[in-house]
Amino acid sequence: RASVGPKYLSGLNPEQREAVETLDGPVLVLAGAGTGKTRVLTTRIAHILSQGRARPAEILSVTFTNKAAREMKHRLGQMLGHSVEGMPWLGTFHSIGGRILRVHAELAQLKSNFTVLDVDDQVRLLKQLLQAENIDDKRWPTRMLAGLIDGWKNRGLMPSQVPSGEAAMFANGKGGKLYASYQERLKILNAADFGDLLLENIRIFREHPDILRQYQQRFKFILVDEYQDTNVAQYLWLRLLSQAPSSTSPRVRGEVASRSDAGEGDSPSTVLLETAPHPSPLPVKDGEREKTKNICCVGDDDQSIYGWRGAEVDNILRFEHDFPGAKVIRLERNYRSTGHILAAASHLIAHNEGRLGKTLRTEDQDGEKVTVTGSWDSEEEARGIGEEIEQLQRQGEKLDEIAILVRASYQMREFEDRFVTLGLPYRVIGGPRFYERAEIRDALAYLRVINSPADDLAFERIVNTPKRGLGDATVQMLHDHARKRRIPLFEAARAVVETDELKPKARGSLRDLITQFDRWRAQREVTAHTDLAQIVLDESGYTEMWQKDRSADAAGRLENLKELVRSMEEFENLQGFLEHISLVMDRDGGAEDDAVSLMTLHSAKGLEFDNVFLPGWEEGLFPSQRTLDEQGRAGLEEERRLGHVGLTRARRRAKIYFATNRRIHGTWSTTIPSRFLDELPAANVEITESKGGSAWGGTGGYGASRFDDMEAFGSSYSTPGWQRAQANRNRGGQGGRGGFEEEAASFSSSSSPDFGSFSSRRR
Ligand code: ATP
Ligand code: MG
Repeated sequence: RASVGPKYLSGLNPEQREAVETLDGPVLVLAGAGTGKTRVLTTRIAHILSQGRARPAEILSVTFTNKAAREMKHRLGQMLGHSVEGMPWLGTFHSIGGRILRVHAELAQLKSNFTVLDVDDQVRLLKQLLQAENIDDKRWPTRMLAGLIDGWKNRGLMPSQVPSGEAAMFANGKGGKLYASYQERLKILNAADFGDLLLENIRIFREHPDILRQYQQRFKFILVDEYQDTNVAQYLWLRLLSQAPSSTSPRVRGEVASRSDAGEGDSPSTVLLETAPHPSPLPVKDGEREKTKNICCVGDDDQSIYGWRGAEVDNILRFEHDFPGAKVIRLERNYRSTGHILAAASHLIAHNEGRLGKTLRTEDQDGEKVTVTGSWDSEEEARGIGEEIEQLQRQGEKLDEIAILVRASYQMREFEDRFVTLGLPYRVIGGPRFYERAEIRDALAYLRVINSPADDLAFERIVNTPKRGLGDATVQMLHDHARKRRIPLFEAARAVVETDELKPKARGSLRDLITQFDRWRAQREVTAHTDLAQIVLDESGYTEMWQKDRSADAAGRLENLKELVRSMEEFENLQGFLEHISLVMDRDGGAEDDAVSLMTLHSAKGLEFDNVFLPGWEEGLFPSQRTLDEQGRAGLEEERRLGHVGLTRARRRAKIYFATNRRIHGTWSTTIPSRFLDELPAANVEITESKGGSAWGGTGGYGASRFDDMEAFGSSYSTPGWQRAQANRNRGGQGGRGGFEEEAASFSSSSSPDFGSFSSRRR
């Protein structure tokens, strides 16, 4: 071959190479799992840099998780042979959106040190608004409102743009108004939620073409991974940035037009099309092609798993339409998995109707078959998996190359307990995190109030923690004051201690607290942030509170607080640290060395491991009960894609498990194997016995006979899985329907690697 090219290009197949080397104009890589999409993106950045086509700061590169961004930087360094300095715009949609918003905060009525609220804060704030409106939150759950608002934000809708039909869905038409007052409150609190990070960007770009133009000029190249999971807001944001800057004002549509015409009966997708249309494609004249931004998106429709959070797989399908002249490249060779694994995954996904369909082949060996193992209950499942992991370890497998992918985060605890017992190092990725523990949140709240005095939620959290005689009545009074004068709680407290509205004792202790905060803020200027944190914890009495606590976990909490202060060392200052906390949702659970990874299927996207364990393949858990209760196939197909994502994470071994009994949210129920097991090709699957060893294995009991009946293994069992599930539920009485609300909540806090959110499909 004539063109050899730089070293980083060697080893790419011709299609991959084309995707890397086509630097000008829009490019879409539409290809299955493990075909090298992410590798193409990384190599493309290396190519841009080494060709001198742009500087690191001129490349906008969007990854799905912060972890993926770090990984990409690391790989880039390897490819180029030197570490890459900068790449400030390599990150998630939210981290980049947040970065831009801080620069222009005043245009969103914020200060640049605004706080990013997490789901917990968001819900607490909404609860206050519901109370203020006298809305019964039993009838109209706060989380439902949070879900609605989130859904609107995901679709790029400001309060004024919410279709009246949808606004009417909450509290007899108060939904839209609550959304508006929520936004107002956020501004007063100097806070933004995750949705705002992009929504406010979009608003600023639309209202200030000069600012937009500045970014359009800056970003010479735009790259997007996991494009199938972008939602409308992300799409709009990308569209705005990807237009080539022109001397005339850019063609950006202003406020979205018609909205009230969407009646209540409209399906969400109709509403969506009417109210948040994708911007019309840019008119590109011949010879103007170079004015189209160099945007490269890669994705796989079979891995679209965030529909419940507003992702629009359509974005991928309309790419060619939106970016005329786009080059579409398909990759077909899977470099990741062995033959059996790839066959099983492909066979499973073939049961979906709504897909583009694509070929995937591997030149790898067949390898080991995918195993399916039944256990008596989830405890035995965890025990069995623990033993298999130890066995793999004895065979010389690295723990880093072992992952357990669960459907719902509550499944994790059992594994965590087991690993602690076994002394197996593990890390939780994207899971209930260290930073979400109560004592950590308390400590962070102190630091947040120091950093941003208007952070009411943080202030409220610690005003009486430890107890200092400032109970609910005091807080309520502060709230009334704050609301009346539209000032932050902290300011209200400052005013109130000057009056005699409070009893002397409360007044004294509130005054002390204010004085302390003033002192800490002054100290901040001269003290290292780690020292400051220690001082705050000690002087506030917070450390002492746990030292005096007699409960079993108090010692652990004190350990965690120490760990918190330690973890701050990595950061330059308090602001940087707090930013990290609010954005980095996929931080490892602490173990840094060789460790087993534990995460949800959702968080596993884009990752790969030699050995993948997939527990809990049971009706009602996977597919989830929510999708079983739903009308239509959409939810079920998304679950199946999730299964496909799970299987395709594995390089050499994929091991599926189901238990016959499982405790969901405290209630035991009898379960039956997932229909997805029926859909696996018998030729690529092997049934094995549980190593957890107990009642189930040898006795041929209930579970065993069921399992023997499964279609994939040659019998003629033909009752559809859902009917079996139904029958089982009726029989079992206490059924698998386990706290829908909780389930959704656990998804939101742990399965979204990037930000906490709520199921928009719950509506
Ligand atoms: P996913 O859809 O799961 O995100 P992907 O398409 O992004 O997958 P990558 O993660 O980029 O796939 O690649 C999968 C694996 O195959 C990686 O280990 C990667 O290094 C390897 N790989 C990709 N292309 C090649 C190649 N040309 N030669 C050798 N290995 C390759
Ligand atoms: Mg990838």
